[in-house]
Amino acid sequence: MGLPIHESHSRCVSRVGRLVPLQLSSHPMTFTSLQLSIPLLRAIAEKGYETPTPIQTAAIPAILRGADVWASAQTGSGKTAAFALPLLQRLSANRREPGRFVRTLILVPTRELAAQIGESIRRYSRFLPEPIKLLVVYGGVSINPQMMALGGGADIIVATPGRLLDLVSQNAVSLSAVQTVVLDEADRLLALGFAAELGQIIQRLPGKRQTLLFSATFPPPVEALARDLLRDPVRVEVAASPETTPDIEQRAIEVDAPRRAQLLRHLIQTHGWTRVLVFVGTKYLTEHVADKLRRGGVLAEALHGELSQGARTQALADFKASKIQVLVATDIAARGIDIEQLPVVVNFDLPRSATDYTHRIGRTGRAGERGVAVSFISAETHAHFQLIEKRNRVALPREQIPGFEPQPVTAPAPPAPGGIKGRRPSKKDRYRAAEARPPAEDPGPA
Ligand code: AMP
Repeated sequence: MGLPIHESHSRCVSRVGRLVPLQLSSHPMTFTSLQLSIPLLRAIAEKGYETPTPIQTAAIPAILRGADVWASAQTGSGKTAAFALPLLQRLSANRREPGRFVRTLILVPTRELAAQIGESIRRYSRFLPEPIKLLVVYGGVSINPQMMALGGGADIIVATPGRLLDLVSQNAVSLSAVQTVVLDEADRLLALGFAAELGQIIQRLPGKRQTLLFSATFPPPVEALARDLLRDPVRVEVAASPETTPDIEQRAIEVDAPRRAQLLRHLIQTHGWTRVLVFVGTKYLTEHVADKLRRGGVLAEALHGELSQGARTQALADFKASKIQVLVATDIAARGIDIEQLPVVVNFDLPRSATDYTHRIGRTGRAGERGVAVSFISAETHAHFQLIEKRNRVALPREQIPGFEPQPVTAPAPPAPGGIKGRRPSKKDRYRAAEARPPAEDPGPA
């Protein structure tokens, strides 16, 4: 499935101090005109890509000439190839020094995204005359094979921050010769949960290096942090336009919280949705909702961070291979994961922030496909959804599905669980909420 061809009116712009139009009318860019090598062009053709996407058109030349890049582009807009192709070209121009050194480090927030990027790089590099040594390292699996594989260093490591630090502290790898570091889903890596680990990694990198930041979102609090990491960056922004905005129909359906699982099953059946990614707020609820769906005859699995890595990988692989119809996941599936032909994403629970909303719904409508993103809104989460709409500058009509209309609210609704920004419930609160919810879910057999 290819992304749409970007015509002369594409609004992609690159900015170095000021905004510069990138494409000349009636001369759409080609991969050849981006000066990519023949082995890479072969791999691109094999993938079925015909023209570079706007983010690729803008980022590839800058990365090839060694500049720092700060790139924002919509979900599903071809970011992986935008950094992987020029990096492979640069790596294949020189040989690796002997030792425990790494030349390119790609940091990502989740194991699933690490595996996916590793797979893409393997495909893009397959025709290079000299093989590229690529390692994907993340936690949840034994560290020993990773330590063994790191013997002699690597050209590229794709890593989650925690496991990379473990490997560094065991002297399995040295980051002192890294030439390029990529932060994919950079805003997530710069945010609180990862900031300390990221700081320790950055400290170990050479000061003179190329730094590339990629994400669909850069909320203001992380912008300053991002700026600190970069040296005279080329700022690449793909402005929203009909050509570059993912084709996602957003729907907001009002329903009482206890009836959401029933409504979900009803929607799956009436719309004939073949593949649905459902986001919930807690690990417990992934299991609970998946279980309810299974009991209602829908093939569903849960995906969350407390499953073994084997179970996580299997659930995602089964979903991608259409062996299961519904994957009920926490936000570990919200970032970067590329599932071809995923027509529907459902926010069973609303995400915490407007940024998370963008990433969640961005799992559908990828690579030029159309998608639908459905959010369930109850009296308790109504105000929170309004905030998400405001931040994302959308105003969605509220729908009600016959047979699932919410009961009229008599008392003032309590504040939204999962919270308005700045009022994040503690882990304990969330467990309590999860514990409290199941008995109220769907009275009667699902
Ligand atoms: P990404 O944003 O890197 O996750 O890519 C989203 C999807 O777009 C993936 O399925 C890629 O294989 C696909 N893709 C990336 N670049 C192109 C291109 N130039 N033409 C067509 N599809 C592409």
